[in-house]
Amino acid sequence: MNRSKQSSLPINDQFDPTRISLRLSVTEKCQLRCCYCMPEPVRHDDNSLPPLSKEEIRQVIGSLQSYYRISKLQLTGGDPLVRADLGEIIKSLSCEQIPDISLTTNGQALKQWAKRLQESGLNRMNISLDSIDRDRFRRITKTGDLHKTIEGIEAAIEQKMQPVKLNTVVMRGVNEEEIADIADFGLSRGCQVRFLELMPIGAASRRFETLYVSSSEVKTRLSREFHFSPLPDSPASSSVNYTVVSKTGLTGVIGFISPYSAPFCSRCNRLRLTSSGRFVGCLKLGNSIDIRSILESESPSTDRLIVEAAKKVLSQKQNAAVSSNTSSFQSKEIMAAIGG
Ligand code: SAM
Ligand code: SF4
Repeated sequence: MNRSKQSSLPINDQFDPTRISLRLSVTEKCQLRCCYCMPEPVRHDDNSLPPLSKEEIRQVIGSLQSYYRISKLQLTGGDPLVRADLGEIIKSLSCEQIPDISLTTNGQALKQWAKRLQESGLNRMNISLDSIDRDRFRRITKTGDLHKTIEGIEAAIEQKMQPVKLNTVVMRGVNEEEIADIADFGLSRGCQVRFLELMPIGAASRRFETLYVSSSEVKTRLSREFHFSPLPDSPASSSVNYTVVSKTGLTGVIGFISPYSAPFCSRCNRLRLTSSGRFVGCLKLGNSIDIRSILESESPSTDRLIVEAAKKVLSQKQNAAVSSNTSSFQSKEIMAAIGG
């Protein structure tokens, strides 16, 4: 492969156009109906395209690796744990020389899965936890059982997943009063805790103005209980991380993900693959390219065509970063299909 021709992307100090972080949604199905994620009425799963098969996923990864270095692979969904062959997918990806493979889940089925995931080669995990109050958790997720997610977190810790990161989307009038308790809960179990800003995508678009809380407000509130010291982050990291010490002596790491107030577009090397086979470059831009037809054609040019599709969505995104308007999110896909 001629690397001198590899990309039309603008190159700056922080951006290596041959290194990507891939977020792979393995299904758009989910046991939960989080108020900010799934639209109402819920789209009928039966009308959507089936997810890419294990073989197709492996093909995409192989094609991408003919040109790119995948530095990070995050399996997501919907909820990846509803996919029965997830263990086999992870096993096959573990042979692919990807240094960092992680999984993002709501934790509802994690107790049953944790050992198998560890045995398949997974060693770190993100678990969504928007409340540690049983009734509020149920109101946010509509069908979720807090106890199951907590059991899932404990199972991941038992399997020595390192680190276990807990992700909380902070919402005004919903869980904003709970953030210090959630931080205590996570840190006391040795988990990293990350607070996410709501994005005006999917079901969140309608009530975004009412629900949105900025990371700076969350950090200010937490500063009453925790002392923060900044950690150096990698340029492509989506979170800004701190070591913290609480008034009660708890220590650990708290991070903030601020896609709305501080978008990290210029440092973003993330490529998303939806469960139905679309590359998505950017949530703000909403640009995507279907690669399912390429996979189905079984053409000898599959590698080249897939790399070209990836280059196209990534260059659109990088060019758009120059003129990005922080408040607009154009993505029309639901988050469960894109994977977050
Ligand atoms: N079902 C898994 C879970 O909830 O962790 C994985 C998929 S979910 C789409 C991935 C992440 O996206 C979760 O942390 C979820 O909270 C977040 N998310 C979904 N919709 C969002 C929105 N509108 N704004 C911010 N984060 C969102
Ligand atoms: Fe499901 Fe995750 Fe979306 Fe909640 S945020 S509905 S758990 S995909």
